[in-house]
Amino acid sequence: MKKATKKEVEIIKTAFVARYEDAVTELTYKNVYELTIAVALSAQCTDKRVNLITPALFNAYPTPYDLAKADIKDVKNLLQTCSFFNNKAINLIDMAKRVVNVYHGEIPLDEKELITLAGVGQKTAHVVLIEHAGANLMAVDTHVFRVSHRLGLSDDLTPSATEETLVKKFKTNLHQLHQGMVLFGRYICTARNPKCEDECFLREYCKTKESFKPR
Ligand code: SF4
Repeated sequence: MKKATKKEVEIIKTAFVARYEDAVTELTYKNVYELTIAVALSAQCTDKRVNLITPALFNAYPTPYDLAKADIKDVKNLLQTCSFFNNKAINLIDMAKRVVNVYHGEIPLDEKELITLAGVGQKTAHVVLIEHAGANLMAVDTHVFRVSHRLGLSDDLTPSATEETLVKKFKTNLHQLHQGMVLFGRYICTARNPKCEDECFLREYCKTKESFKPR
């Protein structure tokens, strides 16, 4: 597969940053506690579905103190339309317990500490920090993976290798690039029937319309 040249990488970067300068997540949340939960639930699940689930969940458990004391059956019940809801329910309660016991009820805003919370891997931590603090970090979900490959920015086989490549190539503005590539992949450069002719502003830099899936 053809790779984007250095010059093309710069043009693609500028185009994404200009178009998605103020882009934010489509997950609904009111504070960093809710954001962390929403991002954790969105693994292998759509933001749309997560947004249907979280109002009742946040209403039942408005703080980590409430969630730490929750009955697992009730949490599973609230999450049942989400993929992997059994594990996610267990993790959410464990996460809240650690936030209460170790961090005085406040979600820690440091990557190394965030990933000590149950169900929070590096990708979730990055998304929380990108969204909450505009941190200069990249996170690669299915959309970012596909878009990176179609634009010849990466030929890596895994999301983590793709993340590394994107960080090396882009260096700055990573939070805008992350948010932008997610939205571009979700609405324009979709897996099936991408809107190449009508809506794509990067058409001339596209290397392939193949659908790439992370391993
Ligand atoms: S031309 Fe189509 S496949 Fe290529 S980047 Fe644009 S939307 Fe995606």
